Amino acid sequence: MSDSAKHHPGFVKPAAPPSALSHRDLREGPFWQEIPAWHDVDEATFLDFRWQGRHSITSTEKLVAAIEGLAPRDFIDDVTRGFHLAPMSVRVTPYLLSLIDWRAPYDDPIRRQFIPLASQVQPDHPELTLDSLHEQEDMPVPGLTHRYPDKALFLALDTCPVYCRFCTRSYAVGLNTDTVDKVHLNADAARWEQIFAYIASRPELEDIVLSGGDVYNLPARHIRLIGERLLGMPNIKRIRYATKGPAVMPQKLLTDRDWRDALVHVVQLGRSLRKDVVLHTHFNHANEITWITRDAIGLLLEAGVHVRNQSVLQRGVNDSVASMQMLLKRLGTIGVHPYYVYVHDLVKGVEDLRTTAQVAIDIEKGVRGATAGFNTPTFVVDTLGGGGKRDVHSYDFYDRETGIAVYRSPNVDPDQLFFFFDPIAGLFDEVRARWANPLAREQMKAEAAAKARAAGGLR
Ligand SMILES: *Cc1c(COP(=O)(O)O)cnc(C)c1O
Ligand code: SF4
Repeated sequence: MSDSAKHHPGFVKPAAPPSALSHRDLREGPFWQEIPAWHDVDEATFLDFRWQGRHSITSTEKLVAAIEGLAPRDFIDDVTRGFHLAPMSVRVTPYLLSLIDWRAPYDDPIRRQFIPLASQVQPDHPELTLDSLHEQEDMPVPGLTHRYPDKALFLALDTCPVYCRFCTRSYAVGLNTDTVDKVHLNADAARWEQIFAYIASRPELEDIVLSGGDVYNLPARHIRLIGERLLGMPNIKRIRYATKGPAVMPQKLLTDRDWRDALVHVVQLGRSLRKDVVLHTHFNHANEITWITRDAIGLLLEAGVHVRNQSVLQRGVNDSVASMQMLLKRLGTIGVHPYYVYVHDLVKGVEDLRTTAQVAIDIEKGVRGATAGFNTPTFVVDTLGGGGKRDVHSYDFYDRETGIAVYRSPNVDPDQLFFFFDPIAGLFDEVRARWANPLAREQMKAEAAAKARAAGGLR
């Protein structure tokens, strides 16, 4: 018998305290009735996706009408000014609104993601550009980003069921705002034809991410059309439909039968062709998961649809080991696989939500081992200038004082170095002063690049 087969009869692993199981305690019942405006809304109405769409909050007037008497007055003034400064349109579903703790709205993790406040605005990082990831530079045809060898990103439309403050694609997604004029990528069959032709012409492409905008806003017939056209191409082996929908309006999976059937049809068609079709979604906090989510995802699981999750790491939302662990375990209980956690990109007007790369490294260390390895996401940073996603740990150089991290991305461009920049606000005054000076800024970057070149290299 080998050593490892020995056991310790006296050993008792201490029982987990009840709090260790709190990820299983989903909100039950008609929780939305705590919002005065929806006190009389019954379950059938609240589960109706059309009702959710019609009652979504898109202006301060509607927001005030919904939460009148709940939130403090100074908060309401702050929101009103916040809406005008925001680079993103605002759109919040009644579902999300009812999950916010309106007695403490400043700290609420859902409020922070969707409702801008003037008092929280911080100056953008000096290196920020509207399309920091250069998605548009890697577009051979409008709305298709072909950066990696075998996979491409298909932006089918530019609207979403909600608008997230932290959206990386604020260059295109949503309506023009007081501060940004957008590039438009409509749901347009002629534009899609160009994309299909390009994908068919590139035999190396095997994997298409269908995103936007958000595919929740595509009608069922377009879900089918795009799925069938892509699956019909011999080179295409994998498709992912990307939608924030299950996190922000799970009702649609329950009551928009056509849409759900269309998705299940494409998944089953894929299976019959031995191709992989999955749904990628986007939960950021455990509070976004309720009994409605469990029922909605449950229908997908029964139909054999795999669901994976991508989160964005955000300050005050999920930037602690405890909140991230709760999210991952709760995703596990409803059958969703955590895939990625993204370090927050450089995005206009949301510097208050960003974290350093170090925070991602620390949280990864804290959560690994808490649950199955396949339910433990990879923490990635999408590097500036189109280097693509890198494991946050794989930098060639990272200076926590200047907040500069330097990565290589051999499958995108083996010779180039790609940067990520920590938020300015957390740096020492003296370093912030250097960032404010264009010459000093270039010098800091050049020094970091030289050190990365000296340290790095592929083996
Ligand atoms: C994220 C992304 C993909 C998919 O990458 P995975 O790491 O396979 O999830 C493809 N193309 C672009 C441009 C992307 O940003
Ligand atoms: S749903 Fe996705 S694409 Fe739409 S605003 Fe949010 S992050 Fe951006």
